[in-house]
Amino acid sequence: MKRVLGAALVLLVVCSVSVFARGSSDDGAIKIAMMPKFKGENYFDAVKIGAEECVAELNKNGKVVFIGCEISANTFLHFLEDSSGAKFLSAAIVKIKEPDGRLRTEMIPRHLPGHRDFYRRDALNGKFYQRAVERGLEIRTAALGAGKATVMELRQLYDIGMRLIKDDPRILLCDDPDCQFCSKF
Ligand SMILES: [Zn+2]
Repeated sequence: MKRVLGAALVLLVVCSVSVFARGSSDDGAIKIAMMPKFKGENYFDAVKIGAEECVAELNKNGKVVFIGCEISANTFLHFLEDSSGAKFLSAAIVKIKEPDGRLRTEMIPRHLPGHRDFYRRDALNGKFYQRAVERGLEIRTAALGAGKATVMELRQLYDIGMRLIKDDPRILLCDDPDCQFCSKF
């Protein structure tokens, strides 16, 4: 199960700027959980660590923090896809680099193919975030240098997101009839 979960979160690599921070940790330390690009060459295993920490932070007032990037890079939504058994996930063959440099072939049972509605640059105006905010999701932003930081409560995002997916299994897909991926589901 652990392997499946981690494998399904391969897109963590794409949005490596997302971090989880402890909301009420004793030492105030910020734990960066999703930086696979910077953990060495074996990013697949690094991604699995990210997924494990993602689950752990759910129960510890974790937050998802976007620093200098848009919420369209929210890989946690793929975690919701995996958790809800989304039908549009499919198997993929990957090469995993071992510490000694050898490549191992493995199958990811639920990989993350295709397009999503929340990939749009104005993701806040997309289906998922619009409905999530209507149901109480708080999205806080603050200026940070020349850019901005955006914060969401992980537990809130998980609970609201899972309910939204249950009500509308296509909520994370776009409605463009010309979209070669989303129109298949
Ligand atoms: Zn689409």
